[in-house]
Amino acid sequence: MFYVKETIGDTTEINIEINDENVFCRCPVCGREVLVDLEEVLGDGKGDLFGTSVMCEDCSRKVMELKHGKPEA
Ligand SMILES: [Zn+2]
Repeated sequence: MFYVKETIGDTTEINIEINDENVFCRCPVCGREVLVDLEEVLGDGKGDLFGTSVMCEDCSRKVMELKHGKPEA
């Protein structure tokens, strides 16, 4: 397993296991907090843990619509 290690002060160290429910990033478009599925981001072998940002559902839908045209209402 992977975990995050952070030292607080000189004596306290916390280890937090990374799972599919505690990894977040901010949507680069609207700044909303987005739950990140690391497996999804890294699973295709092209993922870049530091260079990848994940858009929230709303923004990724908007981008898809911009790219492919709005679906007929
Ligand atoms: Zn967004």
